[in-house]
Amino acid sequence: MTNKYTRYDKPALASNLFLSGGRVVDPRTGIDQILNLHIRDGVISGTPDKAPPEADIIDLRGHWITPGWFDLHVHLREPGKEVAETIASGCQAAMNGGFTGIACMPNTQPALDDAAIVNWVRDQGRTFPIDVNVIAAVTRGREGKELVEMSEIVEAGVRAFSDDGNPVKSTSVLLHAVEYANMLGARIFEHAEDTYLADGGSMNESEWSTRLGISGIPTISEAIDVARCVLIAEYTGGAIHICHVSARESVDLIRQAKKKGLRITGEVCPHHLLLTDEHCKSFDTNFKMNPPLRSEADRRACWDAFLDGTLEVYCTDHAPHSWEDKTQEFDIAPFGIVGLETSMGLALTHFLSKGMSLPTLLERAVYSPREILAQELPAIRSGATANLTIIDPNHRWTVNPEEFKSLSRNTPFAGWELTGRSRGVINRGYALIQAF
Ligand SMILES: [Zn+2]
Repeated sequence: MTNKYTRYDKPALASNLFLSGGRVVDPRTGIDQILNLHIRDGVISGTPDKAPPEADIIDLRGHWITPGWFDLHVHLREPGKEVAETIASGCQAAMNGGFTGIACMPNTQPALDDAAIVNWVRDQGRTFPIDVNVIAAVTRGREGKELVEMSEIVEAGVRAFSDDGNPVKSTSVLLHAVEYANMLGARIFEHAEDTYLADGGSMNESEWSTRLGISGIPTISEAIDVARCVLIAEYTGGAIHICHVSARESVDLIRQAKKKGLRITGEVCPHHLLLTDEHCKSFDTNFKMNPPLRSEADRRACWDAFLDGTLEVYCTDHAPHSWEDKTQEFDIAPFGIVGLETSMGLALTHFLSKGMSLPTLLERAVYSPREILAQELPAIRSGATANLTIIDPNHRWTVNPEEFKSLSRNTPFAGWELTGRSRGVINRGYALIQAF
């Protein structure tokens, strides 16, 4: 194999590629079989037995080829904090993690709160195999007061608005935002938090916070806002997506709302599925994020909800912070951890072995996030854009933050031994195939 496809900074064109002998898994198209794929100018041109002339042959025996994975909750730090992450470095981290699409949150400086800046952000990602979607701010400057020009932003292709990092504190503003977004075919993503209850907290309020002497954030600070969102969704008929669900009370509310047929969706992050508040006893700030790591009962409730589809989206809440920021004391350090480059390995290692099927995982990581953003779903068939993630399910590796493409290293999963990782991504006419 040539190594021209290993470049992250300037990905090669997928002009004539023959992906040989991989297991193609596309649940929505109903495919699960060993197939050769020929890609011509970024499009799946067919499934020939032999490599067409001049094609670059990639031997993918023992690999899986799935529709491209999507991370619905990513913080890029550009504009404003490029030392922690740029749009380009975030795209490269996404490529390394096996994603072909991301949705980035608007809490940059300045905030992503008008059509011009939304277009600028998307444009920065144009030379990568990544669809950079923007979730625009709900309110100007994310100040919680005045709604952004939603119709102009929707015209620019955005289908989601969020003041993430913060909740939309004013219920009146939130109600109007949901109504207006609904008229435009968009939805609100709520960072569910009652800031009065959460104020000053750095970890889950629990036996552990008491023992460690760290101020706590109770689970109901999240659930109270989820309840508010459920009531607003019922009252308006609008759609609300609940970000990074962490509490069992929130899970119960979302499950009930779905039973009623309300347009409430929810996402869950790997750390809330795999870690608990006990990890904070190390005082390692890589275990500090918002919402915080919760109790074992909360973790289990999130896992059950993830399995049964109450929480239909698997996302990372990738939140890069510089070493200087994260090496402060636990109660001073900023909330957040990176996630793009560990998400898939954690899922393949820890979810598939615990009763989640590969098709279900793909529902959570490929289809649901795009449906929530009203984006076209990738399909593996002749004539379709090649939007693919290539996975080596048997590759054993150890998480080493020094190898991240992200500019930040703040992960709680350093040193974890994982089995399975992305081998490459193809999308938008570009290809990355890793050399390992
Ligand atoms: Zn958030």
